[in-house]
Amino acid sequence: MNEHEQEARHKARMARKKALIDAAIARADQEKGLLVVLTGNGKGKSSSAFGMVARALGHGMKVGVCQFIKSRTDTGEEAFFSRQPGCEWHVLGEGFTWDTQDRARDIAAAERGWAIAERMLSDPSYQLVVLDELTYLLSYHYLDSDRVLDTLAHRPEMQHVVVTGRGASEALIELADTVTEMRDVKHAYRAGIKAQAGIDL
Ligand code: ATP
Ligand code: MG
Repeated sequence: MNEHEQEARHKARMARKKALIDAAIARADQEKGLLVVLTGNGKGKSSSAFGMVARALGHGMKVGVCQFIKSRTDTGEEAFFSRQPGCEWHVLGEGFTWDTQDRARDIAAAERGWAIAERMLSDPSYQLVVLDELTYLLSYHYLDSDRVLDTLAHRPEMQHVVVTGRGASEALIELADTVTEMRDVKHAYRAGIKAQAGIDL
């Protein structure tokens, strides 16, 4: 095959591919608020959620972020995003459950945090709501799963929600529109590197 034939063949193949892609794009013509779940053991769940926060703010959308579990308020994401107009940021945790070692206190913190999330999930002016590490409140039974799923299911129609955390339940996955499982291939922590500013916090 000479160069000319090779080019013609490539052009024909790309034209077929373009027709398929254009047809698929044309088929996806609906709009709705999405429930995105980012789960799995690999790194990247929360940082992906914060990427969507940046996108939404770039479009001038109003964003609410609830960080459950976590108690540290010295993260780069909070320092940056809580200063952005249109972004409401709540750090609602009391720390990891192995740090607090106090189930009643964890449940009280979960309830306080969920009340703030519930307010956002009933207010259509929030166009994106991030519920960071929400899955742990469900897997530890700090919150009633049916109640949480019911609130998510009945939120404003055009509101996007991103839920992060390991071990997303089948019911949450079922309710979601988009689910990604981060797979842990390698993590610097296991080589003795502590959490690094700019990468991990
Ligand atoms: P990130 O916030 O970096 O996107 P994540 O939300 O996917 O991470 P979490 O389970 O919330 O992961 O953990 C947060 C912290 O733990 C981050 O410092 C992250 O780098 C670290 N981490 C995430 N996955 C692992 C892992 N498999 N092993 C060790 N540390 C991890
Ligand atoms: Mg996280």
